[in-house]
This record gives sequence, C-alpha cells and structure tokens, in this order.
Amino acid sequence: MKRNLIITLLILLVLTCFGAGGLLFFQQQQKEKEAERAKEQSLVMKKKQESEKAAEVEKEAQAEAGISKKVDKNQKTAYLTIDDGPTKYFKQIIEALKKLNVKATFFFVGNNIKDEYKADIKQAVQDGNSIGMHSMSHDANKLYKQSQFIPEMEQESKLLSDIVGKKVGLIRAPYGSTYLNNDQVQKAKADKFRLLDWNIDSNDWKHKGKPQDTVSFVSQELDGFHKISPVILVHETKDTLDAIPALVKAIRAKGFVLEPYFEDNDFHLNFKKDPDL
Ligand SMILES: [Zn+2]
Repeated sequence: MKRNLIITLLILLVLTCFGAGGLLFFQQQQKEKEAERAKEQSLVMKKKQESEKAAEVEKEAQAEAGISKKVDKNQKTAYLTIDDGPTKYFKQIIEALKKLNVKATFFFVGNNIKDEYKADIKQAVQDGNSIGMHSMSHDANKLYKQSQFIPEMEQESKLLSDIVGKKVGLIRAPYGSTYLNNDQVQKAKADKFRLLDWNIDSNDWKHKGKPQDTVSFVSQELDGFHKISPVILVHETKDTLDAIPALVKAIRAKGFVLEPYFEDNDFHLNFKKDPDL
C-alpha cells in the first residue's frame, strides 16, 4: 500500500516535471516565435523605410531633372558665326576657341578652300564645330544677277561634303538671304539647304585693328536679346582671333551659352522670315 503510494507520488512527480518542462519548452518556443515575429516586423519596417527613402531619392532626382529641364528651357543660347574663311587664321581661331571650350559655326568661301586647309576643316568638324557654305566666289554680281547662287552652293556643298564625309547643307548667303529671288528660295528648299542669316552684325570691319571695340559693341547688342537667340556675325580675321577670349567672356557674362549651329536646329533665322528656309 505504502509502496503503491510512493510509486504514484513518483509518477506524479515525473509528470509534473514533464509538465513543467513542457510548459517551459512551450514558453521558450513562444518567445522565439515572438522574437522572430518582431524581427520580421522590424525587417518589414526597415524595408518600408528603405522603399520610402528610395521614393524620396527618386522624387528628389525628378525634381532636380525638372529644374535642369527648366534651366535648359530658359538656357540662353548664342551662336558665334565666322564668315569668309578659311584663311591662315582658321587653325589659330579653332585653337583659341578650343581653349575656352567653345564651338562655333564657320561659313567658308569655296574658292578659299586650299588643300592645306582640308585636314583642319575635317578636324574642326570632328571636334564639334559646324561648317557651311558661303558660295564659291562671294561675288554678288555672279550670285544674284547671274543666278549663280544655287549652282555655287551645290558645288561647294559637294566640296565640303567630300572633305568631312557627310552632307553639308548649311548656307550663309553672302550679304544676306534678302538678295535671293523666289526661284532661288524654292530651289534652296528643294535641295534641303538651310539658310542662316544673323541678328548681330559685329561690324568688325569697322573696328579694324581694335578688337576690343568689336567686343564692346557685341556686348551692348546682347542686352536686347531676351527671347530669340543671338546669331553673331564676325569674319575670319586676325582681329577676330585677337578678340576671341574677351568676346567669349563678354557673351558668357550676359548669361549665354555658346553653341555651334547645325542645319537640323529647330531655330530658323533668315531675313526672308521663311520658317521652311
Ligand atoms: Zn561674307
């Protein structure tokens, strides 16, 4: 009887131990689960924070892009166009511009294109400058009275295209497009030529030997340009070479960025006021 009681007590003790152990085990498991859940939750939170942060960064980037787009839209572009070359100053002018990280637009007289200039012309185009035709002869009589404008431009286009290895269709009409008759305008369009006149004549020929006067003159003229891009006309001379550092500085000081003018530019400027020319 006593023995039975002892056995029963022992069994109860063992059961109690198991029970307590089980409870402890259960509690431990609960704790682990909770810890895991907490960990998961913190991971979720972290992920959420990360994605929020990423969204914020994205938003900032977009805002910045928006601002830079705005800057682009409001960016004032000026075009420096240099006529009547190539001359012995061509390479030096290119080098002077390169030092200032400026690309310009050169309008060549076909009859001036000696073989010795061809490699420099090709290099200038490869460096990002733009080139165009300024007729073979620069002779107003031939071009406008003897109807040689289109034939001369076609001849020079072929000459320049062969030098640079791509079609050149940009034209600056000597003395301006004003002198073209309607037939010539239509033919220029049919040939897919683009005519670019100017809206700032630097009058550099009047300031011979005084490049600083040309710089001051252009600088004053720029004050009148708020909406339309200034297209500045200078000639390929020693004076222009000497004027370049001060001229570029003055143009930039007025808030303009200098760009080369390519024939696919959406901005058209011609004295005929023809949007398709
Ligand atoms: Zn000219």
